[in-house]
Amino acid sequence: MSNCDALDDFLRTDPRDVGCDLALDALHTYAEMAAAGEHPEARYPGLATHLQSCCACSGDHEALVRALREFGADEPF
Ligand SMILES: [Zn+2]
Repeated sequence: MSNCDALDDFLRTDPRDVGCDLALDALHTYAEMAAAGEHPEARYPGLATHLQSCCACSGDHEALVRALREFGADEPF
């Protein structure tokens, strides 16, 4: 990625995007709501925006939802 690509990506960042640090703080709650069939994007719109643009957090979210659906939410992470 060139410096121009990195700058373009930065300038296109949605201002509602909470970023990785805050996303990871709430990701387990967000994933539990998603696994339960609720709509976490209504409660955490900044996190929903972040998941649309961050492959790392989006991958973690998908893995958490799969694990919660397979093993249940009672198991501690
Ligand atoms: Zn992220």
